[in-house]
This record gives sequence, structure tokens and C-alpha cells, in this order.
Amino acid sequence: MTGTSEPILRLKNVRKAFGNLAAVDDINLSIGEGEFFTIVGPSGSGKTTLIRMLAGMERPTSGDILLRDKRINDTPANERPTCMVFQSLALFPHRTVGQNIEFALKIRNVDPATREKRARELMQQLHLPADYYSKNVTLCSGGERQRVALARALAFDPQILFFDEPLSAIDYKLRKTLEKELKDIHRETGKTFVYITHSLEEAMVMSDRIGVMRRGKLIQVGSPNEIYSTPRSRFVSEFMGDVN
Ligand code: ADP
Repeated sequence: MTGTSEPILRLKNVRKAFGNLAAVDDINLSIGEGEFFTIVGPSGSGKTTLIRMLAGMERPTSGDILLRDKRINDTPANERPTCMVFQSLALFPHRTVGQNIEFALKIRNVDPATREKRARELMQQLHLPADYYSKNVTLCSGGERQRVALARALAFDPQILFFDEPLSAIDYKLRKTLEKELKDIHRETGKTFVYITHSLEEAMVMSDRIGVMRRGKLIQVGSPNEIYSTPRSRFVSEFMGDVN
């Protein structure tokens, strides 16, 4: 899947200022339906501010965010067909796998029987054993926890999943496994994934396309191969140095 697929999300001159600081500065971008798009950049480059605007947790100061052809700047997060997976997966400890997966459905007042049916379908889709429904999440392995977090995010069938550095606090070896699993799940679900990370290496492994941010600006967009072979600025090639 590449940027040539039908755009699901379009950003037109999107800007977010905090006082005099343009945290996100005039971004134009189209993300294709079903694409795995990663925004990468060093700390402070504006990634979190950007994804929070896309997910509806922050309003742009100016510019437009379009979901298909609908302007969604002012649509609150819980009214958007999108879902965010947070840092360290943010599961509820001391709750069962089932309770975690059903959370988004519960807050949408879906009845308990429908919730359980949906949770069990998702567990099957994400290769979680059926008897895990009543298992405490703290007893699950790192890989299983990621699948629970994804099942929870997929519970109400969102069109786009946003990921806010979900693997940043996870040790290297497990992170490598989770990156691969996440990529597989992306392929299996066919959903649009928008992912942020400060790790270009992580972006390279998983993404269809990467957008590199620096000081609020999107300075290059391309496939991992394009970014790797033709970095368009010294900043990108130096940033790439971390991967080699
Ligand atoms: P990143 O996710 O790439 O680390 P952020 O989007 O968190 O970058 O931050 C981009 C810039 O905007 C930083 O300089 C940060 O200090 C600033 N910033 C982010 N959120 C706020 C806020 N709520 N108020 C003021 N400044 C902010």
C-alpha cells in the first residue's frame, strides 16, 4: 500500500501555535486508505501535537483536516471514527483481557452481550486464546498485551488507528518482536495506521511511507527506501546515521 491509494486523511496548511511557538507549522499531507504512515522526528519536532490534532485531542490554530471529504477540525475525539493507542499501550492493570477490550464499547453504551461477542471475535482475529477472556492483563506477555491494546482500539471498528510511540518504553528485544507483529496486524486488518516515533529505525521497519518532521515542519515524505537512498537534506541524512 502506498500514498497512491485513495486518501483517507488530508491535511491542508495545518498549523498549531502555542504562544509564539509554531509547534506544527503549515503541514500539507495526504495519507492513503490502508496505509501504514509514520511521522518521525526528534523530540520537540511537533509529532505529538500533530497526532493529537489528527485524533481530535487538540484543535489546529489554522488550516484544515479532512477525513475523506469532511472537515473534522472541530469534531471531538469521541465522535471521530478513529482511535489512539498510547505510550506503553496504557492497558488497565488488574482488569481482565475482556474488560480491557470492551472498554471503548462500554463507554459507548453497547450492551454486555454484544460487547462480549465483539471482544471474543477480536481475540480470535488477533490470535489470543479464548480462555484469556477472563485472564488478568498483567499476567499476559508483552506480545499478548500489545494484541489486547490493538483489540481494544479495534473494538468499535475505527477507520484509522493512531499510535503515540506505543513501543518507546519497551526493551529492545521485545520491541523488535512487537514491531513485526504490528506490521502483520496492519496487513491482516487493512486499517489505516498513523504512527509516531522518534526512532527512524522503527519507522523504516514498519512503514509504507514516512514523514520526517523538524521544528514543526514536514521536511520530507517518502517510502523508507526513498528516505534512505535520497535524503533531501543534511538533517535527514544525519538523522539516518542513527540507523546505520
Ligand atoms: P514531539 O512529540 O516531537 O516531541 P511536541 O509536539 O510534543 O513534539 O512538541 C513540539 C513543541 O511544542 C515543543 O517545543 C513543545 O515544548 C511545544 N508544546 C507542545 N505542547 C505544548 C503546550 N500544550 N503548550 C506549550 N507548548 C507546547
